[in-house]
Amino acid sequence: MSRPISAPRGIRDLLPEDGPAWSRVEGIARDLSARYAFDRIETPLFERIELFSRGLGESSDAVEKEMFRVSGAAGSEEERAEWALRPEPTAGIVRAYLEHGMHVRPGPQRLWMIGPMFRYDRPQAGRFRQFVQWDVEVIGDPGPMVDAEIIELGHRFYAEAGVGEVVAYLNSIGDATCRPGYRDALVDYFAAHEDRLTDDSRRRLRVNPLRVLDDKDLDPELAAGAPRSLDHLCDACRAHFAAVQALLDDLGVRYEIDHRLVRGLDYYTRTTFEFYVAGRRGQQQALGGGGRYDGLVELLGGPDTPGIGFGIGIDRTVLAAAEQGVAAAADAPLLVVVGADPDALSPRLKVAAALRGAGLRVRVDGSERKLGKQLESAAKLGARYAILVDPQLSLERVILRDLKASEQREIALDEVAASVR
Ligand code: AMP
Repeated sequence: MSRPISAPRGIRDLLPEDGPAWSRVEGIARDLSARYAFDRIETPLFERIELFSRGLGESSDAVEKEMFRVSGAAGSEEERAEWALRPEPTAGIVRAYLEHGMHVRPGPQRLWMIGPMFRYDRPQAGRFRQFVQWDVEVIGDPGPMVDAEIIELGHRFYAEAGVGEVVAYLNSIGDATCRPGYRDALVDYFAAHEDRLTDDSRRRLRVNPLRVLDDKDLDPELAAGAPRSLDHLCDACRAHFAAVQALLDDLGVRYEIDHRLVRGLDYYTRTTFEFYVAGRRGQQQALGGGGRYDGLVELLGGPDTPGIGFGIGIDRTVLAAAEQGVAAAADAPLLVVVGADPDALSPRLKVAAALRGAGLRVRVDGSERKLGKQLESAAKLGARYAILVDPQLSLERVILRDLKASEQREIALDEVAASVR
């Protein structure tokens, strides 16, 4: 026997026992997308690297350190093409939005997607190289109502998923008018304390000073004394942020201001937010995050268009729900069709097809084993009922066996659904 091949590091297999919890959480995301009137969009798992470097910023971790590169088949024309697996969904969605002329459709566009993202990061508990995000984007709405609307949507998602005590941490990082002044204030402050910065932060200070606040190893005292973006907002950004907070207050959404919340990507403007279970602010604990990106559409070659969105981590939501003891809904009862006649497989399949047509969850035993053995395996599979196809009967009639009670009776095939529900 040859050596088994293991999975790449940092990925997870979704096993049958994980399925119900995932389906439940993904189902809530899909359902909420529909209830909040978002339209589905799917973009490819890989895009040109340039899309990410331009959109997310060369100095973002996602581009600088974590890009999963992809090349075409060896020897092909496209071999040297520079593609990457998507680290986040927004850049690809904005690309598609522009490429398909969605900016001339009656707006704003409300789009949602759920799917895998890839970051070549060091794997840890709660941090994977492939993970699933539920993403919503509203393109063409300057807010502030929509800012509050999607933060409320995130909150509702966790509530429906059964993850309790979720807080939205909130900040505003200003716009093209006021951010340069804030940047300068940060540079002045941190440059005066450069000896207390990590190597990484010293570099960030030169390329993107806001991201020094993102450094998890930043000296807490230094962080606490750092200039705050909220003190540097221009009048328009200040009014916008005040309106977002007032709306969240009216909606009763739990939020807290976090002056260090700048988010890791360059495209953010004004409102930024992240969701955590209260009191759990560790590195791998963010359940979701997002913000406004009023400059991104233009940066990617389109007209000046505002946008806002969030990405919610499905892996971490499923983990958090499990930690908080949320049970996945039980599957519908399983039925197994069995038959005494080893040659008569077609009647078994026909009966199973009819039961499935009636909406039941059905397996078929296609083996030549004795009936007793077939019933034993049906019970081991967790089936509540077995349906015996009896060669003596017409196909319109079957034997319904309750495997728990070990009782059986003859019944019309079209009455099975009503008696097992
Ligand atoms: P981000 O855009 O990095 O804030 O990501 C949005 C959400 O996706 C985070 O709040 C996490 O819930 C989830 N997420 C991000 N990176 C990872 C990862 N490497 N593994 C698992 N979940 C992740």
